Amino acid sequence: MKYAIPLPPTYTLTIQGSDEAFPVNRVFCVGRNYAAHAREMGKDPDREPPFFFMKPACAVVQAGEKEITIPYPPKTSNFHHEIELVVTLGKGGKDISIDQALDHVHGYAVGLDMTRRDLQLDAREKGRPWEFGKSFAKSAPIGPICTADKIGHLSSATISLTVNTQPRQSSDIEKLIWSVAESISYLSQYEALEPGDVIMTGTPEGVGAVVPGDVMHGHIDGLVDIVVSVSK
Ligand code: MN
Repeated sequence: MKYAIPLPPTYTLTIQGSDEAFPVNRVFCVGRNYAAHAREMGKDPDREPPFFFMKPACAVVQAGEKEITIPYPPKTSNFHHEIELVVTLGKGGKDISIDQALDHVHGYAVGLDMTRRDLQLDAREKGRPWEFGKSFAKSAPIGPICTADKIGHLSSATISLTVNTQPRQSSDIEKLIWSVAESISYLSQYEALEPGDVIMTGTPEGVGAVVPGDVMHGHIDGLVDIVVSVSK
């Protein structure tokens, strides 16, 4: 096959303890999946059905214990951190039952759903899509994947984020309103999932702004930490 233009790049993530790379297909993000974060965003944290938005694969940036730098994006003056448990899928499927859902999980990682909050809230107010607030290049720094066959599945673990060593976000993934299995099952009723899909499971309370020069340190017990700075 001859292509008319150069092939678009494949975005990948490293896998802890392996020299294989994980190719990223689509990135699905769960909105408002911790009650205390729903409240801080001015919403009732009732267990209403989960909702999702997407980021393009080019949102994914490899992060890890060694500091990486992401650009401060254009058209915002309120660039927010959201620390999240990231799930990578090794197996696709549709109408996946909750009981079977974890069989589709390839692994877990620490990630950031970086958000242009001013653009997101403006869109929310006008009933418009969140794309400009959420779906932009390098908006999802994600650490190395720890595979489920090595570490098992996570049901409780501390999740935290510091900015310049000051605590900003701290919770436990057992507080997810919709569990990993429930999120996979629900999503798969609307869209056939594919190997390479990535799910960002939502952020706990304590979201806030970063400015150029800030250094974020993300942690989830049992996974590899990430250190991400914002370019000056
Ligand atoms: Mn998020």
